[in-house]
Amino acid sequence: MLRVTEIFLSIQGESTHAGRPCTFVRLTGCPMRCTWCDSEYTFTGGEWLSLEAVMEQVRAFGCRLVEVTGGEPLAQREAFTLIERLCDAGYEVLIETGGYVSTEGVDARASLILDVKCPASGEEARNHWPNLERLRPDRDEVKFVIANRDDWDYARAVVTRYELERRALAILLSPVWGEVELREMADWIATSGMNIRMQLQLHKQVWGPEARGV
Ligand code: SF4
Repeated sequence: MLRVTEIFLSIQGESTHAGRPCTFVRLTGCPMRCTWCDSEYTFTGGEWLSLEAVMEQVRAFGCRLVEVTGGEPLAQREAFTLIERLCDAGYEVLIETGGYVSTEGVDARASLILDVKCPASGEEARNHWPNLERLRPDRDEVKFVIANRDDWDYARAVVTRYELERRALAILLSPVWGEVELREMADWIATSGMNIRMQLQLHKQVWGPEARGV
């Protein structure tokens, strides 16, 4: 059984897959408490569903791209089985994970979008660094959410220290909604000399920052 907050069809709002139709399976619960978290509603509640019930809802949407997200999806052990079942069924599977839980054991057919928590999140100390060593350059992406200049300096240092330009398919820099001057951040990225990309959360621009299930 899995504790599930919501399953819905939308467009992918982030990563190199932004703009694509995507079914989201949002699992309940997260062991972290990022200061700027925009999915606190996933911390509690949810509905217990069997794997088969989740698969049935995913099937009903008829979309070949599926993201398993949260909360922290990998905090529920059965999520690993769900990912396997989705891959077996031929879906293209994305996993959005906060970077605290080990990604070891995630089905190799799924693609990871792995967060590295920066200092302003308050959860920097919980980054599980071996996750970065498991990134695969042909499919996995790494994401830094940036709240200020310190976060940007931190992200750059991590990219260099872990040679992420070599390890990851894409390095995503995402501003905390409403906190960073976007032009300033664009300038940091433009002048970085790094192979990184700024991303804005497409779903928030379309539906607004408070909307759920989109
Ligand atoms: S890891 Fe994600 S869901 Fe968990 S507190 Fe941080 S932003 Fe929120």
